[in-house]
Amino acid sequence: MRLSKLATEIAESPTLALNEEARQLRERGEAIIHLGIGEPKNKTPIAAILASAAKLTSGEVKYAPTDGTPSLKKAVIRYTEENYNRLVAPENVIITNGAKQSLFNILYSVLNPQDEVIVLAPYWVSYPEMVKMCYGKPVIVTPEDGTFTPRFEDIERAVTSYTRAIIVNSPNNPSGVVYPAELIEKIVEMCERKSIFMICDDIYHKLVFDRVEAAPAYRFTQKTIEDSHVIVVNGVAKVYGMTGFRVGWVIAPRQMVQVMTNVTAQTTSSVSPVSQAAAEGALNGLQSVVEAIRLQIENNRAVLFQEMKTFRGARLIKPEGTFYAMPDLRAFNGNSVELSRFLLKKALVVTVPGKEFGMEGHIRLSISGTVKDVTEGIARIKWALDATSPNEIYIGDKKMVRDWM
Ligand code: PMP
Repeated sequence: MRLSKLATEIAESPTLALNEEARQLRERGEAIIHLGIGEPKNKTPIAAILASAAKLTSGEVKYAPTDGTPSLKKAVIRYTEENYNRLVAPENVIITNGAKQSLFNILYSVLNPQDEVIVLAPYWVSYPEMVKMCYGKPVIVTPEDGTFTPRFEDIERAVTSYTRAIIVNSPNNPSGVVYPAELIEKIVEMCERKSIFMICDDIYHKLVFDRVEAAPAYRFTQKTIEDSHVIVVNGVAKVYGMTGFRVGWVIAPRQMVQVMTNVTAQTTSSVSPVSQAAAEGALNGLQSVVEAIRLQIENNRAVLFQEMKTFRGARLIKPEGTFYAMPDLRAFNGNSVELSRFLLKKALVVTVPGKEFGMEGHIRLSISGTVKDVTEGIARIKWALDATSPNEIYIGDKKMVRDWM
């Protein structure tokens, strides 16, 4: 069968592939622990349920305006003012099918073939693939010092005359680090000076711990929204735990929003008005739901850290945000794909290989599940890898003995 070269070269989503393998094992009755997927465990906020239910029961579920319903845009404008101290116009906002579509449409709207986009490792798996889907070239900048924070000098050195954009994701999936404000400031200054789009993927911006703040890029530019190269992407998936509603948004200059609106009109038309009503409900409803998610993850993070203390050979940079952590397990196996497979086979724990995020030798753990998932998951990983840990463990109701070291 002859298919598109470009499309067939797009990598399979590693998380989805692992999820499928785990699902099959679980179906066979195996006691799988899922530290792979990133989804808060909360129920949909009640304000979101009521708002979307009201839309449904109205029986008026038709195409919505391509750039989003006026009332959701209004809620996004308020959110932007409250959280970013920026007043934007409705023409600066477009509502999308998740932050994923936001990112894709931005890249599609700014890239010409061969244009370059700087991606900071460790990076969210979809960035390089999306850049390639838009005929662009991802240019990866990796920290060389064993941390997860790139050096500004290395970013600056990666800029060429083809550089059109840089994607900045802080708090960062997969490492959980929050970039220092000085780094954000320097990137903003460089992007404004060189007319490079700074695409801020702020999807985790409220999920931060220890009073750390994810410094918003807007703070460091004096330019108006129409002149600035700072673009902000956000959504309800992580902060409100509403992954299934598929609502994200972009704040950008109106010319860019107009182009993205045309792209949306010719592809997906609009986001379902039922989902948009839900997002509006969440944004206008009680914000304590966000704090409840944040606290649950902060607690899981404390448990994770406690459990990792006795894990000989593993190195962990404490996450300051998101619901991910990425221990360095090079002491056990430098090949993270092999390592993740081994952990699934022996310990029945789902993890994601660091290689997928441009960070070989590490694995990503999601701590968005229950305390029990985190405690038991880490205990099993320690049992499988650390020769100094007890060599017997219960997995489900089966007593397992480590016999491979
Ligand atoms: N950006 C990052 C960094 C993410 O981790 C995710 C979800 N895993 C997204 C964007 C996509 O979010 P959405 O579900 O709103 O499309």
